Amino acid sequence: MPNTKYIFVTGGVTSSLGKGIISASLAKLLQARGKSVTIQKLDPYINVDPGTLNPYEHGECYVTNDGAETDLDLGHYERYLNVPTSQANNVTTGSIYQTVINKEREGAYLGKTVQVIPHITDEIKRRIKLLGETGEYEIVITEIGGTVGDIESLPYIEAVRQLRWEVGVNNFLVIHLTLIPYLKAAGELKTKPTQHSVKALLEYGIQPDVLVCRSDRHIPKDLKKKIALFCNVTSNAVIESLDAESIYDVPLLMMKEELDKVVLRKLKLPVSKEPDMAQWKGFLGILKNPTAEVKIGLVGKYVELQDAYKSIAEAFIHAGVSNECKVNLEMIHSEDINADNVVGKLRRLKGILVAPGFGDRGIDGKIEAVKYARENNIPFLGICLGMQCAVIEFARNVLKLKGAHTTEVDSDTRYPVIDIMEDQKNIKNKGGTMRLGAYPCKLKRGTKAHAVYSKANIEERHRHRYEFNNKFKDKFEKAGMVASGINPDGDLVEMVELKDHPWFIGCQFHPEYKSTVANPHPLFVRFVKAALEKAGKA
Ligand code: GLN
Repeated sequence: MPNTKYIFVTGGVTSSLGKGIISASLAKLLQARGKSVTIQKLDPYINVDPGTLNPYEHGECYVTNDGAETDLDLGHYERYLNVPTSQANNVTTGSIYQTVINKEREGAYLGKTVQVIPHITDEIKRRIKLLGETGEYEIVITEIGGTVGDIESLPYIEAVRQLRWEVGVNNFLVIHLTLIPYLKAAGELKTKPTQHSVKALLEYGIQPDVLVCRSDRHIPKDLKKKIALFCNVTSNAVIESLDAESIYDVPLLMMKEELDKVVLRKLKLPVSKEPDMAQWKGFLGILKNPTAEVKIGLVGKYVELQDAYKSIAEAFIHAGVSNECKVNLEMIHSEDINADNVVGKLRRLKGILVAPGFGDRGIDGKIEAVKYARENNIPFLGICLGMQCAVIEFARNVLKLKGAHTTEVDSDTRYPVIDIMEDQKNIKNKGGTMRLGAYPCKLKRGTKAHAVYSKANIEERHRHRYEFNNKFKDKFEKAGMVASGINPDGDLVEMVELKDHPWFIGCQFHPEYKSTVANPHPLFVRFVKAALEKAGKA
């Protein structure tokens, strides 16, 4: 699009202010005004992608349709906008350097010294403009990870400075997200940290156009004026962002503060109609007034960290709203579960989800949880490793294949019911080499899976190296665990379910990545419904 508008979102004062949610909220409002918008995240770390990062370090790794392992903020973008993102929506310093260094080796810069400016900054600018150049978006919002002043994010800030002239001043806007802390001893909100962080940006040659100020209380008009005066912005461009009960409140809070209008005016775009947020408001209305509650347990090994299972937690919020109920998600550490305490730990649950994961830590607890769900008719959803645990449990306790396991944990097992995929066997590199992204899956008629999706052909996103071992398929099916979803190209088992159980489904893919506010995922919706039925509330 010739006149793509570029909006940059930077952060100051402290991290964790919610740049991702502010970016997604603004994008939502612009989309609700009929604009085509996408959001991109620039991450300052040197990993090429977050796929090799432990969830404790970085939260969940989000996977796109095209198989990119990305920052979890992309999940927010998709959940808010209901538009898929791609590899181009997440850029890391590692991937920038990798491209530049590869080009250097090819001889693209022969004779030249390769430097941060212009070579690294040129590559950053190329990645930012790439999304605009697809012609699909009128507005590209680029969120810059980290906090202004970090050594790591300097090249990004410098690239943004340079872009102002390249894309044209009317097509360029910087939003700076800061914190206005309340000082109890003084009984006052303080603007100084914000002034300092704007000064830091100015030192790098960037004057922010809009300030979004996080605060735990209302920022009075005179204080907004003071911030405007000290930070060289118009006072209507000082936007208050109050702490919200739910992240889904933020678009409406930003609408009330007229963030979208301020942005459109500054970008010289017409501000004709109001955004159509009717569907969003309907969603929020149910979210705030559920008619029932249901307790579902998430059994995983990263439960101490909220962000490790972000998309699953959000998918339960969407599915709860679909069922007009609140899902109380109880996080249960798989390492804490054993045969002796499993009943006590899981007794109160009306549904059990066994989470994705890697390696052997906590796997025995996951298998115990599956057994409990299977034997006690508790609705069960196993995702990726969760499905693999369901297969292992069935092999051991129903088929009586003693010691059956996944070769990921026990490479010498006599019964490798889960085994490494053929094309994964010779892969040595760990980064970006799993079976990643969207693959088709064909559902068997007459199965629960088919009823859940109400169609036979689906596409879901994957992130794994191991698979159901087809050598055992007949045995499983005869005993009541059916392969209900198959990848038509590789004959891989993508879904399993139990015939004699009210609701027991395992999927090798990650349905949580595709759940959005506008489109709650059917597997989660039906799982929550089954849990409500178990609780006698449906
Ligand atoms: N570790 C398993 C595999 O690689 C499961 C992966 C997952 O749960 N995402 O197949």
